[in-house]
Amino acid sequence: MKRATNWRRSRQNGKRMWRGNIRRRQTSVVYVDYDAYMHSREWCEVRQKRLKKDGYRCALCGTTEHLEVHHLTYERLGRERIDDLITLCKTCHKQAHELKDR
Ligand SMILES: [Zn+2]
Ligand SMILES: [Zn+2]
Repeated sequence: MKRATNWRRSRQNGKRMWRGNIRRRQTSVVYVDYDAYMHSREWCEVRQKRLKKDGYRCALCGTTEHLEVHHLTYERLGRERIDDLITLCKTCHKQAHELKDR
């Protein structure tokens, strides 16, 4: 059975949060403190795995500078699979977000 999780960016007390609606019998809302998660050991580990897999290069332009790890999906935020992520440089990452938010 597919569990539908729709993450939305929201702000709470000036913090960037991801608000997820997990639909079970009742709609429960979960919040992930995005900035705190970005500093967690879990994220650091999964991020390193993705960087290593991509050979420490941007998946789009191939540069090795200013690398960031982008979420292709936020569906499993906090327990990402390595395929939910992609290595991008700062420039490509910015473009990826601009395209998505348009
Ligand atoms: Zn790039
Ligand atoms: Zn991103």
